[in-house]
Amino acid sequence: MASAVTLWPLNFVIKEGIIRMKIIMLGAPGAGKGTQAQMIAEQYHIPHISTGDIFRANIKNGTELGKKAKAFMDKGQLVPDELTVQLLLDRVAQDDCKDGYVLDGFPRTIPQADVLDQELTKLGDKVDYAINVDVPDENIIHRMSGRRACLKCGATYHIEHIPPKKEGICDKCGSELVQREDDKPETVKNRLSVYHEQTQPLIEYYTRKNILKTVDGTRDMKDVFSDIITILGR
Ligand code: ADP
Ligand code: AMP
Repeated sequence: MASAVTLWPLNFVIKEGIIRMKIIMLGAPGAGKGTQAQMIAEQYHIPHISTGDIFRANIKNGTELGKKAKAFMDKGQLVPDELTVQLLLDRVAQDDCKDGYVLDGFPRTIPQADVLDQELTKLGDKVDYAINVDVPDENIIHRMSGRRACLKCGATYHIEHIPPKKEGICDKCGSELVQREDDKPETVKNRLSVYHEQTQPLIEYYTRKNILKTVDGTRDMKDVFSDIITILGR
């Protein structure tokens, strides 16, 4: 009992420290943004928001948005900003985001980053960290061909590096794991060139804002996470 009383102020301080932490994950497709974002979300009790997961859920549910997004995703292209930006702004306006969030896959273009910046500025707020998970293109095709995803809860595995306990089944929610349509090598090559052209400039964008932190994404996922925790420092 005595120790619980002693610990309370410490827990309180830690909770205070994480309030309103907003994190953006940057990196090539397959760099491990989703894997790390999920761990960050669990560690800091903030939602993990993946625009790719939102689109895939819409595709699975056969919505109009899903039908429109699928045409772009299957080709490895970006979904147009008109379909993406408001969707993200509506999501971060929800109540569970009031203490912060980790964005995975947004922003992917400078105009998307500008809109996010402007909307947060209106609220007297800002992004705290942009974490760039750095993995060279040579490693990406291998990562993507072995990726297996849970379309229900968003968990991600790799058949060699991060296998589920039971083959083909999500450890977290028990659903069936699938290989993503856009993880085929031809589509991955396209996604990589789209990344270099449209998304990589965000590294410079957030460097100029003094919030860019780069981690070596080729290390074991636990080591990458430990580097991220060191950066977030709370
Ligand atoms: P992104 O969200 O950036 O597209 P993912 O988090 O889905 O990438 O990771 C891509 C693939 O690489 C997945 O199969 C994942 O399990 C695997 N992966 C993630 N991090 C690592 C790592 N540090 N080492 C090896 N494989 C990893
Ligand atoms: P991801 O799950 O992050 O790899 O995203 C899968 C696909 O969804 C991408 O290749 C894009 O087609 C689309 N997508 C996800 N997020 C965005 C975004 N912020 N802007 C445009 N397209 C996106």
